[in-house]
Amino acid sequence: MTNILIENATLALTMDDAGSEIANCDIHVRDGVIQAVGPNLRAHLQGEQAEGLAVHRADGCLVTPGLVNTHHHLYQTMTRAVPAAQDALLFGWLQSLYPIWGRFGPREMHSGAVIGLAELALSGCTLSSDHMYIFPNGARLEDSIEAAQRVGLRFHPTRGAMSIGESKGGLPPDALVEDEAAILEDCIRLIDAHHDPRDGSMLRVGVAPCSPFSVSTDLMREAALLARDKGVMLHTHLAENDEDIAYSLEKFGCRPGEYARDLGWLGEDVWHAHCVKLDATEIDLFAATRTGVAHCPCSNCRLGSGIAPVRQMRDQGVRVGLGVDGSASNDLGSLSAEARQLMLLQRVQNGADAMSAREALYIATRGGAEVLGRSDCGQIAVGKRADLAIWDLQGLESAGSWDPAAILLAGPQKVRDLFVEGKQIVRDGEMQTINLPQAIKEQNKLAKDLM
Ligand SMILES: [Zn+2]
Repeated sequence: MTNILIENATLALTMDDAGSEIANCDIHVRDGVIQAVGPNLRAHLQGEQAEGLAVHRADGCLVTPGLVNTHHHLYQTMTRAVPAAQDALLFGWLQSLYPIWGRFGPREMHSGAVIGLAELALSGCTLSSDHMYIFPNGARLEDSIEAAQRVGLRFHPTRGAMSIGESKGGLPPDALVEDEAAILEDCIRLIDAHHDPRDGSMLRVGVAPCSPFSVSTDLMREAALLARDKGVMLHTHLAENDEDIAYSLEKFGCRPGEYARDLGWLGEDVWHAHCVKLDATEIDLFAATRTGVAHCPCSNCRLGSGIAPVRQMRDQGVRVGLGVDGSASNDLGSLSAEARQLMLLQRVQNGADAMSAREALYIATRGGAEVLGRSDCGQIAVGKRADLAIWDLQGLESAGSWDPAAILLAGPQKVRDLFVEGKQIVRDGEMQTINLPQAIKEQNKLAKDLM
């Protein structure tokens, strides 16, 4: 039973329906749910509401909903800044990394996920999805699920897959692809074992064939049928760069958006990563079907893929969330840095008034929660889950700032405190749930062995 009061935040940026920004704000949380939001709450707490109350002072701090990460490959933290993959385009980048990932096993998957999730937590993230699409040497989705349970973040792992290897005209080596019947069977096993659809769920499983260039049309279609039968969400990579579009036109005779439409891959239970190259017709199609997009600006820069048309998507009503993408293509997994990059890139493309710091933060919080189907998260409002990020405005990065809400302009980029479901994950900038120095040591040892 948690009963906590976050008291006297300089400002709470709630991301509620009214866009409320509340000065000198308190937030009362019981059993993981927000009970009240506003100034001077303590005087009104009586009886069991006051019993065992833990007070966290937030003077000089901004409070926001926890950030939501809609796209990651957590295992890739084990392959940051690999020399052969530092300067390649998407397809060449993948081809230099596949053989390294093929030597991973359960320990690498678990360690990579712990590191990636801790990095997310310290950058304000309370809910993350993950897209794990290789399962070499006995690795299982559980390797990442157990990591999320240790770190304490709300987690939406997706069961990815690749089934078309080099010998059949696909991109990945044959050793990394799986049999399609076995993929679908494992999806069913994972959903039955772990998926929790309830409000406040800490774990939801999704179905996520890797990309149109690494699985068959049949698997895409079967995956959509399975996900709908089970009531879970669908996720993949789509329209990431020019190579991706060329592959789609050559192999399928249509653009990625049309391919997705023909296979049942549009709808509010679907979100696609990247979508850098969606054209105006595809943007309309996504808006009309309420299909979600995971925008990954740093990865798109790193791989030279381009700038996703987020301004146009938002103006047409497409639901957009933010993702750091895997740490082999970012290689930083900081979600607050990602939100700043989103804001800056849209300005590069469309002008300085194209994306405010507040709108970018909205995309990074409530936008992402909506893309992941979490109407119970992503805002500071009565009845919503207590996923909260507390940002200290008294440090170096915000010294001299005139606007406490504009942390994507002035910083800080790391949280002071972080709560998930009312449980404290970060305190004074330190992870509370894991021994981080030990986890870093373990990760570096495993990475060195791979080198
Ligand atoms: Zn990705």
